[in-house]
Amino acid sequence: MRLLIVEDEKKTAQYLNKGLSEHGFIVDIAHNGEDGFHLAQTGNYALIILDIMLPDRDGWSIIRELRRSGKITPIIFLTARDSVDDRVKGLELGADDYLVKPFAFSELLARIRTILRRGPDRQPETIRIADMEIDFLRHKATRRGKRLDLSPKEFLILWLLARHAGEVLTRTFISEQVWDINFDSDTNVVDVAILRLRKKVDDSFSTKLIHTIRGVGYVLEDRSEHSES
Ligand code: CA
Repeated sequence: MRLLIVEDEKKTAQYLNKGLSEHGFIVDIAHNGEDGFHLAQTGNYALIILDIMLPDRDGWSIIRELRRSGKITPIIFLTARDSVDDRVKGLELGADDYLVKPFAFSELLARIRTILRRGPDRQPETIRIADMEIDFLRHKATRRGKRLDLSPKEFLILWLLARHAGEVLTRTFISEQVWDINFDSDTNVVDVAILRLRKKVDDSFSTKLIHTIRGVGYVLEDRSEHSES
């Protein structure tokens, strides 16, 4: 998962970069508003951490322009300002959260995770991974143009995995998201459903997309491009 940090204070940026990298994120950094805006506009980030007071262009202007152009990447404002007005303004402009410096890294991490897992309100309509295309609105998934015959539940699991492509999802997380009830320990249901889903998604193709991470859960990714992993 790739994150963008837009922060002119180099020490803070490095501190965030180090912490987030240690937690498995891939991090890009911009030290001024123009670079930050350009990366945010053109890159494909899971989330942006955005300072407000920046050289060239402030965080307000960046988020305003991004949202105006239809870019819905989640944004956490990170700032020394702490007035209620600023907080409200940030949220009104379309920020997803707001964190006032100084902050605990663990709190930022928790908020990032919450936003990334928040679910389907800002999802894209189609996702492409390798030769697979998933169209959420039409509930249709294809590989090499050939339609996969999925049940509604299987489709939802595939969509969930695809939205979090490259990220290991635990059985508990999958069951909470797809079945919408809290399983106690019976995550067998998930294994059975994934087994069936895999048959339909992967059996007839040489590039396997759904992978088991033993003892943890499942991940959807195209490993043919990532021979190092
Ligand atoms: Ca600043």
